[in-house]
Amino acid sequence: MNLYIEGYRTQNKKLVEDITSAAFYYVYTLLGGRSARHITLDIKLTKDLKQKTDAYGFCQIMDDVDKPREFEIEVDASTRHNFRQILTWIAHECIHLKQFVKGELYDYEDDTVQWKTKRYKLHMDYDKMPWEREAYRLENKLYDKWEEHNGTE
Ligand SMILES: [Zn+2]
Repeated sequence: MNLYIEGYRTQNKKLVEDITSAAFYYVYTLLGGRSARHITLDIKLTKDLKQKTDAYGFCQIMDDVDKPREFEIEVDASTRHNFRQILTWIAHECIHLKQFVKGELYDYEDDTVQWKTKRYKLHMDYDKMPWEREAYRLENKLYDKWEEHNGTE
């Protein structure tokens, strides 16, 4: 995987080291090495993302939606959030990255989303969307596993 980290707080060496280590761990764990090594991931750290957009994170496809390999993940990296929180949001967005790469999740232009074998119209509650439920179910597990193996805190 090619990984780039940019934006707010990138002068914080420890934060950048932990994000690098965690992002590699997440993507390789979720996709396996054969697929993960073709991924390019840009992680953009933003101050007050939540205030600006009402979300703590985003995962966006930057190349071909039919065979996505390049992604941008943006997360709120405001100083009031601790490393664990930021790394958990990155885990959440990496789960969406996995869903896109594996073709489980597909965003249509007309506000509908294909999730596995079903097509959804996007007027449902955010927490009921099955791709979000999967991401919430796995984000802490993924973070805890990373911390167990690589965390230095
Ligand atoms: Zn999500």
